[in-house]
Amino acid sequence: MTFIDIPEALRPKNPPKTESKPSQPSEPPKPSENTSGKTDESQWGYDLYPERRRGASRSLTDVLTMTKGREELRKMDCERGVYRCIKESPLVRLMLGALKSSGCAIDIRRHISCEKCAPNVSGGFDPILNQVVICHNNTFKESAIQGVLTHELIHMFDYCRNNLDFKNLDHLACTEIRAANLVHCSFVSAWLNGDTSIFKFRDTHQYCVRNKALSSMLAVRDVTREQAMEAIERVFSKCYNDLEPLGRRLRRNSLDMHRAFQDGYYYGYED
Ligand SMILES: [Zn+2]
Repeated sequence: MTFIDIPEALRPKNPPKTESKPSQPSEPPKPSENTSGKTDESQWGYDLYPERRRGASRSLTDVLTMTKGREELRKMDCERGVYRCIKESPLVRLMLGALKSSGCAIDIRRHISCEKCAPNVSGGFDPILNQVVICHNNTFKESAIQGVLTHELIHMFDYCRNNLDFKNLDHLACTEIRAANLVHCSFVSAWLNGDTSIFKFRDTHQYCVRNKALSSMLAVRDVTREQAMEAIERVFSKCYNDLEPLGRRLRRNSLDMHRAFQDGYYYGYED
């Protein structure tokens, strides 16, 4: 079983030193091996989503502390937030249109699920069930739901369009680079993280993308930092420059999100 996600609090404290390594633009992603030899579910991030593998049960402690009641309210809030994003967010609507045009139309009740996850995990994409998970215990604001939803929908889009194998480290690196590039290292990340620094495009943006992709990979794969960084460098140029389906890198405090949505019509993506 495999899972990919974006745990916010598991980001590395030290920035990755990736500048010295040359990228290889002409190299297609190659299969890479996980050398740990482990086969348990935690290797693929599955243990970060407890409700996926065992039914949620109500214990006496839950009843006495009303924990379950609070969780159900959070789940409902999360579902309402998802619904609003689908109705109102140009980014989410563009992604849904792109998925539909690529033959992977989604039914929000079947393909998007609000669940309780491990601490510090915001969301994930389960390619086995073709389902996006929003972690209602860690994602509260609608802007955060929009960021997580768009990020995971990019994984779903890549899975639909490119037949991704998430156990292949280069494939995982590529889709995490794309999600960081198209969503998180932009104004959405500013909402999520309260980051007010001004991005100087190119170097700062690419550094942000490498850093986000690395932290996402390390959180859910039992690989070393070096293995993850090598995979990122192998595919960086190819995947950083693949801007489908948004067609542009979104900039903070700009109209890019709305422009991307409008341009979606010209690319043939349906609303
Ligand atoms: Zn991701």
